[in-house]
Amino acid sequence: MSDADELFLRIIAREVPADVVYETETTLAFRDIKPQARTHVLVVPKTRYRNVAELAAADPGLLADVIATAHKVAELEGIAGSGYRVVFNTDADAGQTVFHVHAHVLGGEQLGFFGR
Ligand code: C5P
Repeated sequence: MSDADELFLRIIAREVPADVVYETETTLAFRDIKPQARTHVLVVPKTRYRNVAELAAADPGLLADVIATAHKVAELEGIAGSGYRVVFNTDADAGQTVFHVHAHVLGGEQLGFFGR
């Protein structure tokens, strides 16, 4: 595991500061330092899995917790009604840079289509 991959564990342990917006027993939600939309929050499970596929295979209940936290964040941010997007970048072609699974919760404005 590289230093970058340990970053979210260090945020969870409060060793690295982050703008935390919500926390449960199993998940933490904090603002992305380089927001790509008016609302851009990351949701991580407190146990590290490399990507969403590993998490789904190992602990589907924890994946459900991540999704539930994403929706709670949308409610807290006031965007649950207007609409929001949940994205899991998975490996190189998707641009995953931190190999601790995280959901991007994006919204607060009309989002463009995505792809290339
Ligand atoms: O999906 P991907 O791995 O590319 O996303 C990592 C995200 O973590 C980026 O959006 C980046 O801005 C964010 N990040 C952060 N705080 C850090 C380091 C990275 O919010 N200290």
